[in-house]
Amino acid sequence: MNKVAHYLQEHLMGEVMVDMDARRYFSTDTSVLEIVPAMIVYPRNENDVRKTARFAWQLAERGRPIPITARGSGTDQSGGAIGKGIMMVFPAHMNKILELDTRTGNVIVEPGLNYAKLQQALHTHGRFLPPFPSSMEYSTIGGAIGNNASGEKTIKYGSTRNFIDRMRVVLANGEVMETRRLSKRELNKKMGLSSFEGEIYRTIDALIEENHDLVKNLGFDVSKNTAGYDIGSVKQKDGSFDLTPLFVGSQGTLGIVTEATVATEPYNPTSTLIAALVTNLDHAKEIVIELNKMSKPPCAIEVVDEHLLNFVHNNNPNQLKGILKPPFPQLVMLIEFDDFSPKQQKKNAKKVIKFLNSLDIQTKVETEAHKKEELWKIRHTAASVIAFTKGEVRALPIIEDGIVPVERFDEYLDKVYDLFKKNHLEAAVWGHAGNANLHMQPFLDLTSLGDRQKVFRLIDDYYNMVIELGGSTSGEHNDGRIRAPYLSKLYGPETYEIFAKIKRAFDPHGVLNTGVKIDVAIDDIKPLLRNEYSVTHLYDHMPHS
Ligand SMILES: Cc1cc2nc3c(=O)[nH]c(=O)nc-3n(C[C@H](O)[C@H](O)[C@H](O)COP(=O)(O)OP(=O)(O)OC[C@H]3O[C@@H](n4cnc5c(N)ncnc54)[C@H](O)[C@@H]3O)c2cc1C
Repeated sequence: MNKVAHYLQEHLMGEVMVDMDARRYFSTDTSVLEIVPAMIVYPRNENDVRKTARFAWQLAERGRPIPITARGSGTDQSGGAIGKGIMMVFPAHMNKILELDTRTGNVIVEPGLNYAKLQQALHTHGRFLPPFPSSMEYSTIGGAIGNNASGEKTIKYGSTRNFIDRMRVVLANGEVMETRRLSKRELNKKMGLSSFEGEIYRTIDALIEENHDLVKNLGFDVSKNTAGYDIGSVKQKDGSFDLTPLFVGSQGTLGIVTEATVATEPYNPTSTLIAALVTNLDHAKEIVIELNKMSKPPCAIEVVDEHLLNFVHNNNPNQLKGILKPPFPQLVMLIEFDDFSPKQQKKNAKKVIKFLNSLDIQTKVETEAHKKEELWKIRHTAASVIAFTKGEVRALPIIEDGIVPVERFDEYLDKVYDLFKKNHLEAAVWGHAGNANLHMQPFLDLTSLGDRQKVFRLIDDYYNMVIELGGSTSGEHNDGRIRAPYLSKLYGPETYEIFAKIKRAFDPHGVLNTGVKIDVAIDDIKPLLRNEYSVTHLYDHMPHS
């Protein structure tokens, strides 16, 4: 055991591991990149996190920085949950629901808590956490906070950021910060502190004031965005100030979350689900715009394309048996209403069906739980692509998650298909149509030199295309290492410089998840490309129903 690991083992309640098996397991997330960490730490409590951060800070002050990467279940597809230093793994011990207030619906959680377990507990109290990712069975709430995860219900309810009320965060030097919205007076008090926390408040407030116009106009014309840092939500017009939105979606690059107070919504399982069989691609945009205009909009507008359905039909035909058969429509859109009033649901469904019929689009409508589950299977077939293997060919998460203004949804689809065609690749596209946020994973072989070169060509073409469409490179999967090189182009160099200053304010020695989000060039990630691709971190849970 090296000196650092030895010191930590002596001082922490949790375990420290340096054996090669453990390090190899944590050398990958579900991205295409790989970095072997120096050691694994399983913190038992916040004090363990504080001590580790404090020690890393002291080492950095002596010119020997060792990075710390916080980790949930490692399902990150951006390379955000790997790192070369200390891998701090939360699901082992810090995985509890600490408090559930049945009156307000607020729940206090530890970061390593499995998301699906939290959702189950909430359901028993008639509540739910709406921005759940489709990976919730095998991911944590801490990871969702780290990535500002979203999901099928985000179109109505918003992203993770909208649900995090307050947090406890261990700062780079081991101090603990409690975040929540502060009044102007409370902010002044914080800024008067002589601690590192006080310094952070002073720096961030000054940064916002000095760059007022840039900070207020950061947004794109997209309905969700997890690229960069959400500095625009920190200070409100009334002078109130909250660092919570800055930490959410920061991928552990600004601090390590040890506790979060999460808001929830009342849960209504009795929804109405419509499947629209769209035979003309040009209608997709029209439908999404019409649905988003509704005064009581759907809680989900999801999509899969015919290439995905054909792929599933050819490889695993039973999955679609009794639900859909070929020839498949160009797109299947799933539209769901979860209003508590059955009358309202019926009214909405009727209106949507009338509109779809006016475009000659066939529909299926279901309200019974098991029938809805059947229809949802159409969307969940995307998992077959992710699990596909043929020789060394795998579906790689390299060009995925771009989001564009909904008015450009049709152009986005066309350009994605062109990109696949140009590169002689089989297409399969799915995602969150209501947000114009698409996912796709081209089939490539990382043992082939030609395909390895293609990876970076595709990455460059795809993210530049999304930026040119006025979109964001990441709707929900975050920048990590894969998309970080495009952050400066996406926001422009001035805003990027603000992000870099934020990073330096929180992490002056560059220890927190180094190499993620900020200061990443494509040439930094090329040597990290894996020689094979597998989704080790999903095997415990896949397949599941
Ligand atoms: C098949 C599949 C489907 C997916 N579907 C979706 C989807 O629908 N929507 C979506 O948004 N994402 C999706 N993802 C991406 C990913 O699963 C989610 O973002 C998930 O929330 C990550 O959780 P995790 O526990 O695996 O986190 P990890 O992968 O372990 O970590 C994610 C990030 O959060 C940081 N982090 C973790 N814990 C902490 C902490 N305590 N403090 C600070 N930072 C921390 C990590 O450093 C890392 O940068 C999908 C991934 C896969 C493989």
